[in-house]
Amino acid sequence: MKLYEFEAKKIFTEYSIPIPTGSVYEQYNADRGRHLTNKPVVLKSQVLTGGRGKAGGIKPAFTEEEVRNGFKQLLSLRIKGLQARQILIEEQLDIKREIYLGYSILRSKAKIVFMISGEGGMDIEELARTRPEAIIKLSIDILDGFNKNHVESLIGKLGFDEKTTLEIADIARALYRIFTEYECDVAEINPLVITGDGKLIAADARISIYDEAVHKHPEYQKEEDTYTPLETRARKINLGYVELDGDIGVTGNGAGLNMATLDIITYFGGKPANFLEVSGRTYHKAKEAIEIILANPNVKIIFGNFFGCISRCDVIAKGLAEAIKSGILNVPLVIAMRGTGSVEGLETLKNAGVKELYEDDIDAGKRVVEILKTL
Ligand code: GDP
Ligand code: MN
Repeated sequence: MKLYEFEAKKIFTEYSIPIPTGSVYEQYNADRGRHLTNKPVVLKSQVLTGGRGKAGGIKPAFTEEEVRNGFKQLLSLRIKGLQARQILIEEQLDIKREIYLGYSILRSKAKIVFMISGEGGMDIEELARTRPEAIIKLSIDILDGFNKNHVESLIGKLGFDEKTTLEIADIARALYRIFTEYECDVAEINPLVITGDGKLIAADARISIYDEAVHKHPEYQKEEDTYTPLETRARKINLGYVELDGDIGVTGNGAGLNMATLDIITYFGGKPANFLEVSGRTYHKAKEAIEIILANPNVKIIFGNFFGCISRCDVIAKGLAEAIKSGILNVPLVIAMRGTGSVEGLETLKNAGVKELYEDDIDAGKRVVEILKTL
């Protein structure tokens, strides 16, 4: 479970990691905290996803009017489908250097991995791809714990002076304590800023608590905020739905098959817009399922991939045929079907007017991308 930046920063304060002065607001407040009056500030959209800076979710403001306008803009901005309900307003930092500092789990070795880079900031993902050696990694056995000397020598390699090295190591230790005590899968500071006057301040904060440990922290539970409005709508009727950013709507029975469908589409150069899991048990929801897929305005075509087993293809086909008859389908539909009940299922869909029917999902996937190019 991801925490909001302002929640993570509150934890930072409890562990003596310095953060910028600031407060979180749900509504524009002309007062905006006495401590910030007359100082340049940054407005930060509180959404449970990264990449806010690049999406326009971080706004510097120098006047009361800029604060008011920025506040309004951020509340209506969607970042990866998510809309902020709260805005964090902080003093603006004089940034001299941005450091990346983080912990995650290396599952294959059952270790904690500590990561640090002298080139933190918004391009860290790009850096991980193009120059992975610029991010130093250290795997830590949880039984050994945090080794200060080891970490200090690692940080020393980044060329900081001794005082800064020791301060970064202290922050790294505090973040390690948070990571283990809160049972996290991610704890990250990006950027950890060195200011013009040489202070270290955590400008951003990312903490994610293991789902299995979430019950120990009832104060943070807020499941609905991690889902987009369409995901929430699907969950209400027990359909598994995940929103992505391409233009091919995907549906199928079973999460594993849906994953494979995404792979097929990607292999042929297409981009999935979402995937929605239906099954024999929920076949009567086919109409609602198609409605949810089509509610995403980016969807230009739907690819349905079904493997009949306990959930039978003929039953799913019946649901789909009813959905088609209701007239809601306004994009091409390509179906692959095999397994239990597929012969009857394909017949039902043919009678419902579906032209693109396949047994093999790779053939079907190839066709989806071909059709898409003609639209
Ligand atoms: P993210 O894009 O979601 O990771 O949001 P961050 O909180 O990390 O902010 C993104 C970027 O905005 C940072 O890397 C900084 O370059 C910049 N930024 C954030 N806060 C400040 C600030 O107080 N002053 C200045 N000058 N830049 C800031
Ligand atoms: Mn960041």
